[in-house]
Amino acid sequence: MAPEAASAPPLRRCVVCRRQGGKAGLLRVVRGADGAAADPAGRAQGRGAYVCRRPECLRDGRLTRMLAQSLRLDGGMGIGAPVLTWLHGQAEPGPGASIDAGAGR
Ligand SMILES: [Zn+2]
Repeated sequence: MAPEAASAPPLRRCVVCRRQGGKAGLLRVVRGADGAAADPAGRAQGRGAYVCRRPECLRDGRLTRMLAQSLRLDGGMGIGAPVLTWLHGQAEPGPGASIDAGAGR
């Protein structure tokens, strides 16, 4: 067991932007028997990888590769569509932003 400061909350790191944040701000994907799976509660057993809720991270073209790498999935097993659908559904629109704002600027 590595000694840890009891007062410091655990920080998770987004696989895309490498920013650290508390568990609440990050989405967890866990490695399961059949590849990656969404872990909304953040408590599933197994190796987990985190991505923050920022749309720019969730839409980043490297996302699936970074997640697969972090989860150490073999080349044949990727991040499935259900996981990506879940992730994209959790995206924060951001302050003042609107998903379907077409002519705001
Ligand atoms: Zn990020």
